Amino acid sequence: MADFVIGLVLPDVLGTYGDDGNALVLRQRARMRGIDAEIHRITLGDAVPEMLDVYTVGGGEDVAQILAAEHLIADGGITRAANAGRPILAICAGLQVFGRSFRASDRMVDGLGLLDATTSSLQHRMIGELRSDPNLQGFGVTAGALGTAGVLTEPLTGFANHQGATLLGPDAAPLGYVTEGVGNTDAHGALHAGLSQERAKKEVYYEGAVQGSIVATYMHGPVLARNPQLADLLLAAAMGTTVAELPPMTSTFAEQLTAEVATLRAERLKA
Ligand code: GLN
Repeated sequence: MADFVIGLVLPDVLGTYGDDGNALVLRQRARMRGIDAEIHRITLGDAVPEMLDVYTVGGGEDVAQILAAEHLIADGGITRAANAGRPILAICAGLQVFGRSFRASDRMVDGLGLLDATTSSLQHRMIGELRSDPNLQGFGVTAGALGTAGVLTEPLTGFANHQGATLLGPDAAPLGYVTEGVGNTDAHGALHAGLSQERAKKEVYYEGAVQGSIVATYMHGPVLARNPQLADLLLAAAMGTTVAELPPMTSTFAEQLTAEVATLRAERLKA
């Protein structure tokens, strides 16, 4: 077993738009810091080991996410990992599954209840680019290990494709405030859920959710490739350290390529 193990949760049913890449990004950024890191794939029907260092969960179609929710609830491993404060990244359908309940295939389905979030349906599917400013409060106030690992300062970006109208309860904080695109819900979804005008106005600016050791977002990309600051925050939290104290990345892939090209050129000139 490697020193640092990333649990890739149900890639066979959840993992649209390259969300599996989030685990690859975590592994690569750990390895470039000299950390012996591996990915542990957990597929439908497998027990979820509760002692891994960090977990990633992707997005998926309605039927797939119902299967995922049923399995994760019956197994209980991811809930024990969350209760033990292990950092977890959940994308899109993952966000909905970690909430209290979600609407999929025309019915309400129980979620894991690890996020104070409920998801009904948007009138129209939201497809497009999404941008938000990070909610600095989210990591400080609501989150445990994530809150002490550092803060997000860079705008967050990703690609969204969902039909969920997600509303957060008081125990969850938004991950970011939408500056472009549609986040957790649109105005119709918020009003349809019976919110007051005032509350609905707030909810339409919310993107994603942070609660305890869980970070959830509608952003595909994969989100950690597009937002390396978020990747390092998860890494630091998983290692029980801060982003500032993470070992430096000795050589980036781009630097390695540049060095290789320079060596090849020098060899050619000699020949
Ligand atoms: N099936 C969910 C929805 O449409 C999630 C989609 C996704 O994960 N991309 O809202």
